[in-house]
Amino acid sequence: MPADRSPDPARWTLVVHGGSGSMERGDLSDPLDAGARGGLARALDAGAALLASGGGALDAAEAAVRVLEDDPHFNAGRGSVFTYEGVNELDAAVMQGETLAAGAVTGVTRTRNPVSLARAVMERSPHVLLSSAGADRFSAEHGLDQADADYFRVEERWRQLEEMKARGAAAFDVELKYGTVGAVAVDSAGHVAAATSTGGLTAKRWGRIGDSPLIGAGTYADDRACAVSATGAGEYFIRLGVAHEICARVRLAGETIEDAADGVIAQVAALGGAGGVIVVGPDGSGGWAFNTAGMYRGMISHDAPAEIAIYGDE
Ligand code: ASP
Repeated sequence: MPADRSPDPARWTLVVHGGSGSMERGDLSDPLDAGARGGLARALDAGAALLASGGGALDAAEAAVRVLEDDPHFNAGRGSVFTYEGVNELDAAVMQGETLAAGAVTGVTRTRNPVSLARAVMERSPHVLLSSAGADRFSAEHGLDQADADYFRVEERWRQLEEMKARGAAAFDVELKYGTVGAVAVDSAGHVAAATSTGGLTAKRWGRIGDSPLIGAGTYADDRACAVSATGAGEYFIRLGVAHEICARVRLAGETIEDAADGVIAQVAALGGAGGVIVVGPDGSGGWAFNTAGMYRGMISHDAPAEIAIYGDE
């Protein structure tokens, strides 16, 4: 991969996702379908504006994820799913491919934009992963926007929790629509970055942590290979180290990002897991792979207009 190609202000790519799941055509109401597509378009716009003016990949990925966190259609920030106890506990991670710098948070309840808290952990602490009340304290001490529990609450998510409890369903129901959000970007200097943010799984218990905030599982970026953000049944993504595994296949086996992503998602499927990834390479290539019926996704680059899709056949 030509990670050292010379800067070219006209060349960049941004890919976003808003989660993968069992959604087929006809499953989503017209307003939900249009609302999700609108959110993905706004996320692409926010990141693309930065990349088109020579901005960095991490700035673009963070900006795109903040838009999706603020949008109640997605399971991240406002609109996150509820834990079994009826609380929103949020996870996020960021990683920069040039330096392999990374930051992440898990179980935060007070920070309006967890992706920006993950970035603050990366840039303003010596640590990679902070959890729960400590992470929220770090957030307040560093002046990040705080929010009340009510800010994150969306009635549809509460209804989903009650329905799940009534059915006695496990948190790993294969019919779930995972709504985690993420963005991966490659900038004009050929640097890649990844960002992921989520409320996790509806009715999660006992302090359960998924793949999203775990560097190497749900989020990874390496200029020598690619940047990856994942969505799906986190336990499978953790066991395979999905995001790092895709980058390792590119770096060590010379696979294209498409082949590496397809190959690792096939491994997820073989273990019985469901989900998907978005990927960009330092050469400007970008794409996705998923084994669910659909994935909320979008891509834009210096030479291609925004492409937005939800269902598997588009
Ligand atoms: N991967 C997330 C988790 O396991 C869920 C999702 O993608 O929506 O926490």
